[in-house]
Amino acid sequence: MSSKKGITRLDELIAFLKRVYSEMIPINSVGPDNGGPGELEKALYLESLLKQLGFKSVKRYDSSDPRAKGGVRPNLVAKLFDDGRPVIWIVAHIDTVPPGDESLWHYKPFEVTFVDGRVYGRGAEDDGQGVVLALCVAKALLDEEPKFDLGVAFVSDEETGSKHGAQHLLKLGVFNASDWVLIPDAGSADGSLVEVAEKSVLWFKVKVEGRQTHGSTPHKGVNANRKAMKLALLIDQFLHEKYKEEDALFEPPVSTFEPTKREPNVPNINTVPGVDQFYFDCRLLPRHAVDEVVLDVTRLLDEFSKKEGVRCTLEVVSREDTSKPTDPESPLVKRLTRALEKRGVKPRIGGIGGGTVAKYFRNLNIPCVVWMTCDDTAHAPDEYAKLDNVISDTRTLLELFRASD
Ligand SMILES: [Zn+2]
Repeated sequence: MSSKKGITRLDELIAFLKRVYSEMIPINSVGPDNGGPGELEKALYLESLLKQLGFKSVKRYDSSDPRAKGGVRPNLVAKLFDDGRPVIWIVAHIDTVPPGDESLWHYKPFEVTFVDGRVYGRGAEDDGQGVVLALCVAKALLDEEPKFDLGVAFVSDEETGSKHGAQHLLKLGVFNASDWVLIPDAGSADGSLVEVAEKSVLWFKVKVEGRQTHGSTPHKGVNANRKAMKLALLIDQFLHEKYKEEDALFEPPVSTFEPTKREPNVPNINTVPGVDQFYFDCRLLPRHAVDEVVLDVTRLLDEFSKKEGVRCTLEVVSREDTSKPTDPESPLVKRLTRALEKRGVKPRIGGIGGGTVAKYFRNLNIPCVVWMTCDDTAHAPDEYAKLDNVISDTRTLLELFRASD
């Protein structure tokens, strides 16, 4: 990565990237829905960094949220040159999920650790990698006269619905239909996956109400725990049998239905619980309607309630209906796949089950791809990113911004 002025030499880029990680990882930006302070402190840090780097325009668009530190969920929008060149945006989110069970971590989630070419910490990959990638690309582009301007949007609230983040910015009309959007928030270990489609996401909760009693007299109650387990397996089996079609665009190629969280029921062992609550995380191929699954589960609950003498209720906790995929023939996809080929990577155009902010852009017909090179450690203990991946992705994106045809 040599350049005229030499400021983007490889060793300098690595030093820069390590500095940013060291300053960013210790800033807790877990959103208030997940019990955190929100993103203000991280946004203030990045705002000054964008200005230091030489971005010609840096703006902040806050969404009000009294639960967060400072009462706001900040979003940063910056343009490197801001001189009317066509814009390719890199959109990365600055909120993270909580560390989870810290005893499962070998490193401290809010302290940066560099080991064997990896950086460990909560948000190192999701989506700190997207943030540092955008900054590295900016640093390198400053030495060039690229065809495109680099737009950077660092958004809040991705982990809990994006109402205060990407959706807020799109509502304000920050992006144009003629812009292109790159979202480094998911990818594959070899960097080949160019994501143009996502599954719909449905999270639901089922509450089963029986009758609480002493553990020694189960006949006097109705054990909601046992009924809930039975019901969860019934739902699991039904959905897997009905929605088993495959679509080779996606990895995995099927819709997925996973029982995940369970609410605590009783605190002691010798009480038969009267209430039990469990959740499902469902990812549907675009051909299936979210409403149909909701209707199916509602019907199963009604039948089960009648048969088993319990009261079952369904609550849709979150749903993200999928958007129309980005056209694999669109110029953005073509250019990115060409840039990858130039770098010796054989691109694979596909879809994923994870929901990113891509759908909000796709809903407005803004061409958008999700791409980066990562081991997919998001949300896991010992989350990490490989520094080499960031450097390699920076080089690929330089090809994208340079492309002259
Ligand atoms: Zn993410």
